[in-house]
Amino acid sequence: MTTRGVAVLGSTGSIGTTALRVLARHRDRFRVAALTAYSNAELLAQQAAEFAPCYVGVVQNGTSPHEGWGEGVSCLVSAATRDDVSIVINAIVGSAGLDATLAAVSAGKRVALANKETLVMAGDLVAEACRAGGGELVPVDSEHSAILQCLAGRSANDVRRLVLTASGGPFREGPAERLASATIEDALQHPTWRMGRKISIDSATLANKALEVIEAHFLFGLAYDQIDVVVHPQSIVHSFVEFVDGSVLAQMGKPSMELPVLYALTHPERVSDAAMPAFDPVAWAPLTFERVRSDDFPALALGIAAGRRGGVAPAVFNAANEQAVNLFLENRIRFMDVVRAIESALATCAHGPGDSRAAVLSADAAARRHVLEMFAC
Ligand code: NAD
Ligand code: MG
Repeated sequence: MTTRGVAVLGSTGSIGTTALRVLARHRDRFRVAALTAYSNAELLAQQAAEFAPCYVGVVQNGTSPHEGWGEGVSCLVSAATRDDVSIVINAIVGSAGLDATLAAVSAGKRVALANKETLVMAGDLVAEACRAGGGELVPVDSEHSAILQCLAGRSANDVRRLVLTASGGPFREGPAERLASATIEDALQHPTWRMGRKISIDSATLANKALEVIEAHFLFGLAYDQIDVVVHPQSIVHSFVEFVDGSVLAQMGKPSMELPVLYALTHPERVSDAAMPAFDPVAWAPLTFERVRSDDFPALALGIAAGRRGGVAPAVFNAANEQAVNLFLENRIRFMDVVRAIESALATCAHGPGDSRAAVLSADAAARRHVLEMFAC
């Protein structure tokens, strides 16, 4: 069997290291051809020694540069467009992943997309680049992987509704007052998933679920009225698809990103993997579902409204959130200020079409400036 070359962008992060664990078990099918990271050169060097990729890139090199490594932001596109790469796992966090996704699908690659932010900010551009270049997007996000698996090739016409599950985050049960005084440590305590810091905060505000609704809209071509969210604290059911005849399919499994990563590599095929946990419905019981407390978590409705509005609004939602989460993680603003920042940026900067990379990047920059000015940072 010939092996397919895989580039892992963001290989030092939570999804990146999970992807390398999966790839190490499937060396008969996949070969790690390229690795990139932002600045963790030490871990990147260890990974390079283990997987012997042809290309290694680091965005910010430290004091002792590594011979032969690509450097600077351009290393992301270099890794994503190499001839020996057929699948790009985009596990970069935030809008920094946009050019790599666009370049990879334009060059006809499969992008296994964890980096949802870039589909949210530029969904139409990414779709156009896929059409023009012959590339494809396959989701790594667990909810979207679940939906893709339930759809099993059926078209949007067969679907009545998607229901994305949400764990509810660390503040699901507490009184709403707890949100006002939430510390960084409180907000990072995700109940069911261990993830990078940015997505952990997004899960606590439910901004992550808003990003995922917009992601589902672009991936599956469904209207916002056809995409709902339900809270499911155990994170065992990864999402539901309700078909036009009323039949509902769900995909289940222990909360682990290994299966979504593997499936994004092999879709539409399935490959054997004995390391994946066995199904034990009794051990996982009970599975419960709740309505979202929308009033306490306004980021969800703000994000969906931005999605419906279209144009640059989703890019503004995403950029304001990214900027505000950075400020919160630097202890410069409070938890609920993240939502205030999003709301204010959407009211001020979200005008115009998002039909070019320049328009999207300029809206992204305006939203970030707006948030910085709002808090006098
Ligand atoms: P993380 O912070 O653990 O890792 C981020 C990776 O991106 C690191 O390797 C880092 O070096 C790289 N990176 C950061 N900034 C960069 C920049 N400016 N340029 C280039 N590379 C940069 O984050 P994560 O939790 O692995 O999340 C990665 C993406 O996957 C996010 O979009 C997140 O929403 C999505 N995702 C994560 C999970 C999860 O379980 N962690 C689940 C679903 C989706
Ligand atoms: Mg998800």
